Amino acid sequence: MDGFQVEVYTRPMFSDAALREALGRYWGYDSFLPLQQRIVRSLLEGKDVCVVLPTGGGKSLCYQLPAALQTGQTAVVISPLIALMQDQAAQLAQMGIPAAVLNSSLTDEQQTAVMRNAEEGAYRLLYLSPERLAQPDAREWLQRLPICFFAIDEAHCISEWGHEFRPEYRQLSSLRQNFSGRPIAAFTASATQRVRHDIIEQLQLREPQRYIASFHRPNLRYIVRQCGHTQNDLLLAALRTHSGHNIIVYAPTIARVEQTVDFLEGVGWPAIPYHGKMDSRTRRRNQERWMSDEVRVLVGTIAFGLGINKAAVRAVIHLSLPKSIEQFYQEAGRAGRDGQSADCLLLWQKRDAGLLAHFAEQINDPAERERAWQRYHQIRDFVDSNRCRHRSICSHFGENPRWTSCGACDVCIGEPEWLQAEALRVQPARRRRSRKIGTPAAFVGLPQAPPAKAPSRTVSPWSPAEMELREYLREWRREAAKERGLPAFTVMHDTSLDDLCRKHPRTLAEVRNVWGFGERKTAYYGRQILDALARFGAGARATPAPANQRRPAEDTIRLIAEGRTLEQIASVRGRQLNNIIELVAGLVERGELELHQGWVSPEKQTQIEEACARLGFERLRPLKEALPPEITFDEIRLVVARLRRGQNRE
Ligand code: ADP
Ligand code: ZN
Repeated sequence: MDGFQVEVYTRPMFSDAALREALGRYWGYDSFLPLQQRIVRSLLEGKDVCVVLPTGGGKSLCYQLPAALQTGQTAVVISPLIALMQDQAAQLAQMGIPAAVLNSSLTDEQQTAVMRNAEEGAYRLLYLSPERLAQPDAREWLQRLPICFFAIDEAHCISEWGHEFRPEYRQLSSLRQNFSGRPIAAFTASATQRVRHDIIEQLQLREPQRYIASFHRPNLRYIVRQCGHTQNDLLLAALRTHSGHNIIVYAPTIARVEQTVDFLEGVGWPAIPYHGKMDSRTRRRNQERWMSDEVRVLVGTIAFGLGINKAAVRAVIHLSLPKSIEQFYQEAGRAGRDGQSADCLLLWQKRDAGLLAHFAEQINDPAERERAWQRYHQIRDFVDSNRCRHRSICSHFGENPRWTSCGACDVCIGEPEWLQAEALRVQPARRRRSRKIGTPAAFVGLPQAPPAKAPSRTVSPWSPAEMELREYLREWRREAAKERGLPAFTVMHDTSLDDLCRKHPRTLAEVRNVWGFGERKTAYYGRQILDALARFGAGARATPAPANQRRPAEDTIRLIAEGRTLEQIASVRGRQLNNIIELVAGLVERGELELHQGWVSPEKQTQIEEACARLGFERLRPLKEALPPEITFDEIRLVVARLRRGQNRE
């Protein structure tokens, strides 16, 4: 206890002006987000803290800034995800804040070097995985470090009552005994009251200062829709509405991720998959392609997202019922982190509920099973009830909002027009594809919440020249990132990129005024950016995307050319037959593939065409009902695709 008090008294004091100065110098930000400054202060005063800030609330800065200010000392950050740690360390390094990562991805020599440097106090921040912390040598080594505090990221992982319990987090309970003089700061984005108590108890926080932000995210519009076979149509409607913007689609299983990507490819909508079973290189590459806006739609399992630092996501779409309200809140919360309006669409099906119930029942441990059931009932209540979605979420986290209607959920204001039946009528695929990529101004129809922190100018429409510049700078950013082997967003955020286009700096001092350009980043990239801007001024433009970019359906086309049947292709590609049919139908519809004799016999073709002449071909079901039972949906779908193509040509 004595040691603890001495620590407090010897801590340097920083004025508010000094904190703001550091914020500008390192981060290039003008002001703190809500609660940030108070949290920074508590940490500088050596207090324990427990912070619950929503995703996008700016948690990392809360521990990075006090760490950066305490020269000669090191903040130890415990974080569950290797990729996330590395990105953060890379970002810090570019800001001129010495930081390192210690985890299983390093070689033995690298680890030894980091450990030695750390003992000498070389790092302001040191990121450790909980597993690394648990290794036998860790405690003794850490005792030799000049630690100013411990920061526990994703702290809800310590609680069994949380939705992402990780047993290895339990070992953090020993930090308090082993490092009794060091403050501990716990950070999480989603914790119910019960989980918050658990965090404080497990970590043995001492009179922690609690900073709990509201869970209300007024810039998000929650829309919940139970759907059956219309799910794909609804998904497409959402993608069309947000065309040209960044979108995350969450699917419940790896198989569903792949099917969804295939389906989208089939209708000409580029999307990339992301899931836990991919090898880590492909996964990282896919993430990178999405982060750098090469492909706007990412379809992932829940493995995607922890630590995703992309601010301008305009929609998060769930294709099944999440396991808990917390999980939904956290995933949906990846939309709109820039403070601008965004849609969170939950398209669930009855069978998901059955599956969740089934999984809950499979759990052996009675207490854990009980908790799973409780989560199940809560999420069912959430989707089934007709209470305001924002309100339901807030009260789930123990908040009691004063308002009764949010003005931004399906219960309070009804479904948006584009989800209603009229808008879902089949549209020619070609029209969908011709949408221009990258027009922020095309995002219309949502109530615009005041941007929380992005420069407010981003809401006004872009001129064509600005759009060209944006593409050009994006390309520059991709190249700069590639050269350094970094993800593009660590070079600069989208928000910075947009601000660059608006401000069009001509001097280094002007670059320094761009959002997110601190002293170091300006020194690092400023000159190159000015050069790029000068080249743009002299007429240089982004390389136009090749007319037929990567054709994801290529595999299928090749297999067809090799004479495989659709059934064989489904099995070779590990897909369900109806997915392949959908993909092929899309290709036929766009005139990229001819209808094959072997798929539908000439007699059946004639019958189907006659039925179409009578009944039209907007919908398949009436055709199926009118035709003899031996003609399958798949056959009808294929012939209809060819007829639709004829219509598109007119
Ligand atoms: P969290 O971990 O709480 O989800 P992050 O730490 O990733 O949030 O920050 C979310 C976003 O907010 C990031 O893009 C970050 O750069 C930005 N941000 C953080 N603090 C500020 C600030 N004071 N001013 C402007 N932007 C900020
Ligand atoms: Zn509402």
